[in-house]
Amino acid sequence: MPELPEVETVRRGLAEHVVGRRVERVEVGRLRVVRRTSAEALVDGLSGCVVLAADRRGKYLRLPLDSGEELMVHLRMSGQLLVAPRGAVRPPHTHVAMILDDGSELWFVDPRTFGEVVVFDPADVEAVVPELARLGIDPIADRFERDDLRAILRRSPRRALKPLLLDQHVIAGIGNIYADEILHRARLRPDRPASSLDRRRVGELHRAIVAVLGEAIAAGGSTLGDAQYVDLMGDGGSYQDEHRVYGRGGERCSTCGRGWIQRVVTGGRGTHFCGVCQR
Ligand SMILES: [Zn+2]
Repeated sequence: MPELPEVETVRRGLAEHVVGRRVERVEVGRLRVVRRTSAEALVDGLSGCVVLAADRRGKYLRLPLDSGEELMVHLRMSGQLLVAPRGAVRPPHTHVAMILDDGSELWFVDPRTFGEVVVFDPADVEAVVPELARLGIDPIADRFERDDLRAILRRSPRRALKPLLLDQHVIAGIGNIYADEILHRARLRPDRPASSLDRRRVGELHRAIVAVLGEAIAAGGSTLGDAQYVDLMGDGGSYQDEHRVYGRGGERCSTCGRGWIQRVVTGGRGTHFCGVCQR
């Protein structure tokens, strides 16, 4: 599933290729991806509008329109946004096609159809996209200081670090891959309670969050074996080559050279860590 670095890479592509363009026409295929409102609402809300900016909150893409409304896209499990020349053959599972005024098209492609595309009035965000209004701090888009993290850990002293990092209401954008990589970088066990971190450890965790996400963005995100995540031009990222623990269960730890990467399953999701260098 695309996480903050992948969605940020898509956002940068949108800023380059779609911002400033007028949407001339919209075609909707599968209605499941517009389930939040309707196909008519998407077509009416987008047609004729100019895209003013490309913003991101956590894993949500937010594109303000010159109508005062906003286009929101969430890729969920397998969604992709792709730009192509007008008339190009659309890949299977292209559920929304936006025909732009520069001779290109923006496609929303999603084999599993968990993703969604919606146009809404920002004044109605609580009613239409309530989870967007309740997102926690974004560690890249917002000013995110060590003291912000300290306050977060203090509010949930008994929670384990991994579920805390995954909680979108607390910190927005981190998913399973980057939670594992961040905790490894900070040399902290995923099941360690938030209250057990002293000031120095909080600083290390803060640095790890910013560094891992920043490096992953610079690498264009992670494209795993399923190759579902690609950027706007259809290219994969390369950060998967730099994963130290995620997907490396059973391998020798390349950080300390002594431990073996363990994989434990909690709540249906795998957690990867080194029992030697993560304490
Ligand atoms: Zn290790």
